[in-house]
Amino acid sequence: MTAPRHRRLVLLGGGHAHIEVLRLAAQHRFTGGEILVISPSAHSHYTGMIPGFVRGSYAESALTIDVDWLTREAGGAFQEGCAAAVAADGRSVTLENGDVLECDLVSADVGSEPSGLRDVPGVADHAFTARPIDRSRALAGAIEQAIARARRRGTSEDAVAIVGGGGGAVEIAFAIRARAEAAGVSLPLTVIEAKPDLLPEFESAMGRTAGRVLRNRSVDVLTNAKATSVTATEVLLADGRRVPSTVTVWLGGAAPVAVTRNSSVPKNAHHFWAVDSTLRSTSGAPVWGAGDCVALRDFPWVPKAGVYAVREGPVLAANLRAAMAGDTHRGLVLYQPQSSYLSILDTADGHAIMRWKGHVFRGRAALWLKVYIDSRFVDRYRQR
Ligand SMILES: Cc1cc2nc3c(=O)[nH]c(=O)nc-3n(C[C@H](O)[C@H](O)[C@H](O)COP(=O)(O)OP(=O)(O)OC[C@H]3O[C@@H](n4cnc5c(N)ncnc54)[C@H](O)[C@@H]3O)c2cc1C
Repeated sequence: MTAPRHRRLVLLGGGHAHIEVLRLAAQHRFTGGEILVISPSAHSHYTGMIPGFVRGSYAESALTIDVDWLTREAGGAFQEGCAAAVAADGRSVTLENGDVLECDLVSADVGSEPSGLRDVPGVADHAFTARPIDRSRALAGAIEQAIARARRRGTSEDAVAIVGGGGGAVEIAFAIRARAEAAGVSLPLTVIEAKPDLLPEFESAMGRTAGRVLRNRSVDVLTNAKATSVTATEVLLADGRRVPSTVTVWLGGAAPVAVTRNSSVPKNAHHFWAVDSTLRSTSGAPVWGAGDCVALRDFPWVPKAGVYAVREGPVLAANLRAAMAGDTHRGLVLYQPQSSYLSILDTADGHAIMRWKGHVFRGRAALWLKVYIDSRFVDRYRQR
């Protein structure tokens, strides 16, 4: 009798889907081999709570998930590192430090980055962004310094511009406004969105409501406004306008990170890995993926949102478990994305805007629900 094959599964990134894979593997260990997790940091941070962190209402620990601990609970090993490329056959991963790791299966949940981060002039040098967490920390520090300067001088010589009008960007705008208000400082704040409406990922009622609330809080909202470059003191728009900004936050769109772009696996037109409904590469190689870094071949409309990455987690876990055990012939689990999802935006004034199945509502209850959902999510991945 031949011994069962020992397989090595490499998980790249501690994103929303992989932490669920690890949680489920901790409950019911994968058989057939070993798990190695590679991520730039032993800790992941739940983005749904980053705006609250920038506002100063959450300590960093409140949104921190210990991926190293989760990995050990799952019987795996964690290695700090950054993947540079995955081989087309899924049998090796090259790290940014040049090391090559051999493996039998690989899964990526490495997220995305704001589009334009690398190619729009001035962004890399002058703009903040939200992830990884050190960028949010630096942003919160820059806002605090701008507030301190305004207090000293009695007026603000700083101005903040948020480039991007999606959910995360709008929440960060509310968070910055609330932080300045709490300090009694008036900090000019502009949200710049290239599309005709804010929150283009949602129905227009959500964008209209968010725009109204932002304007009521003295935030300028520019739509149909494409940012083309950033300097230390302004954001330049395609139509020639210049928006004063000493603190620019770059949060437009979602682009693939380097490992997603540079791996020789099939991709969609935007360079995200093409996967089928089992979350395996459309090449059929033992390459899997979930979250922002993949494009679902059968559901191209799925947006880049954490809620989808979270729901993909159990499907990915089931299919990786089967693949590790060499048991894929009995059929894999198919991922069926939800057609609509609950979204709640914290307006940082004790209220939130909630959207559910086309209905938009603003109130305290919506914020209560968001706080409950966010804390319950992070709690799932904590030591008890
Ligand atoms: C401010 C803000 C607020 C948001 N709020 C919400 C919200 O309320 N609801 C919602 O649905 N979506 C929200 N989003 C979008 C959401 O954050 C993303 O869709 C989600 O994080 C994608 O999850 P993921 O699992 O794909 O990757 P992520 O959660 O981003 O995780 C990626 C992981 O990969 C690691 N990694 C990166 N590069 C490499 C590499 N080369 N090698 C190895 N590891 C790597 C990272 O360190 C990280 O651990 C928000 C986004 C922002 C910016």
